[in-house]
Amino acid sequence: MSKRQIFDQVSDMETQIGELYEQLGDLKGKLSHLLEEKHRLEMENHHLRSRLEQADDDFKENEVVNETSNIPGEGYDNLARLYEEGFHICNVHFGTPRREEDCLFCLEFLNKTK
Ligand SMILES: [Zn+2]
Repeated sequence: MSKRQIFDQVSDMETQIGELYEQLGDLKGKLSHLLEEKHRLEMENHHLRSRLEQADDDFKENEVVNETSNIPGEGYDNLARLYEEGFHICNVHFGTPRREEDCLFCLEFLNKTK
């Protein structure tokens, strides 16, 4: 192998190393973009999860409010009035006249509903 050939080979290797170094820089850039994107997605995911939990809590609170505002609600008032007017509201004799007697089933039902 002549000195000239050796010199050419070394020169080729220099070029290749330069290209590899460039590619390495490229890859580093892409990797840091990927890590930034991953971080951004994690933050977004965390944010969305807490929003979802908040929405779920609000929904449950709403349900409780609706339930409590319905009892004693209009339905209870109507049944209590019906009982006062002398009719059964229990599921045993519902809608039939009470004949001036208190009905234990009706009273129990009213207490339960209240
Ligand atoms: Zn009754």
